[in-house]
Order: sequence, then C-alpha cells, then structure tokens
Amino acid sequence: MGEQLRLMAVHAHPDDESSKGAATMAKYVAEGVDVLVVTCTGGERGSVLNPKLDRPEIWEQMATIRREEMERAREILGVRQAWLGFVDSGFPEGDPLPPLPEGCFGLEPVEKAAAPLVKLMREFRPHVVTTYDEDGGYPHPDHVMCHKVSVAAFEAAGDPASYPEYGEPWQPLKLYYHMSFSLPRVRALHEAMLAAGLESPYTEWLEKWDPARDKSHRITTRVPCGEYFEVRDDALRAHATQVDPDGSWFHVPLEIQKRAWPTEDYELTRSLVEQRLPEDDLFAGIRGSVGV
Ligand SMILES: [Zn+2]
Repeated sequence: MGEQLRLMAVHAHPDDESSKGAATMAKYVAEGVDVLVVTCTGGERGSVLNPKLDRPEIWEQMATIRREEMERAREILGVRQAWLGFVDSGFPEGDPLPPLPEGCFGLEPVEKAAAPLVKLMREFRPHVVTTYDEDGGYPHPDHVMCHKVSVAAFEAAGDPASYPEYGEPWQPLKLYYHMSFSLPRVRALHEAMLAAGLESPYTEWLEKWDPARDKSHRITTRVPCGEYFEVRDDALRAHATQVDPDGSWFHVPLEIQKRAWPTEDYELTRSLVEQRLPEDDLFAGIRGSVGV
C-alpha cells in the first residue's frame, strides 16, 4: 500500500471552494485522494445574493446559515473541511473606500494569520496546496490575505525554525494558484453559446474586459474534470444565500461547458519535485515519489 495523496485547498470564504477548483477536488476525491478545504473566514459579512432568501431573519443568522451551507457543500464534494476562524473583512465599496472593520482577517498581520494554517499543514501533511494569486483572483481583501497566508504557510511549514510550537515540520511539494477565470475560457464559452444559438451571459463582460490584465499566459496546468461540473454546481447551489440559482453562473448548459472548456486551470508557482510543463495533473511528479 502506498501513501495516500493529500490535497489542501485554501479559500477565503465558505462558497469560494465551490466556485474555484471544485470539479478538480471532486475528481481527486473520486480517485481516492484525501482533500481538505481550509476556509479562512466565516463569511459573516457576505451579502444575500439570492433574491428568494433576501429576508431579515436570514441576514440576522448569516454566520450560522453559512456554516450549514458549507457543511452541505462539503458533503457534496466529498472533502474534509476546516475553519481557520478569522472574521470576514467584507467587500469595501465607495469612493474613497471605507477602512476595513476592526479585527477582520484583512487587517491581521500575515505572520500571525499564517500560524493556524502552518499548524493545519503539519497535521494534514498535504502534498499539494492550492490558493489564489497575488491579486486574490478578484480584489476582495480576504482573497488577497488568503494568498498571503497560504504562501507564508507553504514556506514556513517545512522549516523547523518557524512556528516550532505548531508541530513537526512538513513541506508540501507543490503550490498552485487558481487561473480558471481566463479570457480564452470566457471567450470559448461565449462563442460556444452563440454557435448553439443561445444568448451568452458574457457579452457585456467581454466588452469591459481589459486584455492586458489577462493571466492565461501563466497557466501551466489544465486538469480535465468536465465530468464533475455537475458536482461543482450542486456544491455551489448548497451555498444558497450566496448564489442566485437563476443567475448567470448557471446559464451555460453543462454540455456546452464540457465541450468548450472541460478543464480547471492553474499556475504552478512552487515545486520541490521535478516538473514537466505543461501538465494535466496537480500530482504530476509526486505520484511515484510517495509510492502510490
Ligand atoms: Zn470569497
């Protein structure tokens, strides 16, 4: 018996795990990989984005409801899940932007905020870690912070001199950033919708998109996971307050998605194993070395 492969996916809020890399996780779970989702904050400052649930009693119990939603999504994806216990920073809006609320995740010092993640990495001992890029994928302060603590913990977890009170050192072997919201993917989905005679939900988005900001040239890894898009969407719908079931996310039929863009895409940014890029497997170069 070889050692079981382990994947840790670090996310800012409950629901992020279901919209970024969810089909990848479902695929690896089906293959017997042990997958742990780490959720940095409780999502306490999230809005109610589903018009059918926009009621005062829902707003009042947001923290509890989001925990229940996360538990349903966790079951659907077949993963384990852990909370880091930080408080949602909220998405600041206005001009000038208001300051972040006191005590929120976005204001924590990185070294302190990375500590519980280092502890989890040493307990769970992941071979592969996924997180967001330096911009957070989108400019939510919790997403940017999630990136910072993930990178800091990846670097510190294997270092016996760092956080010595948080367990035996463990060095994860690969670190990836999510790269799925790329211009070529959105364009491919848009064109596939038009070719099928359907209305594309991306027309306005594509008009506004600044091609200079596209990061698709950074993609190193495309994981084929089209057969798990249903599972991904079911998990996302479990976050019922956070997604409108009639919204644009679900407008593109799965058959079209599977045909036009059947992968979730990543950038490999740290690797301690020999790599051959491009690749189609987050565990490429690891499988042999841990005897699976
Ligand atoms: Zn988020």
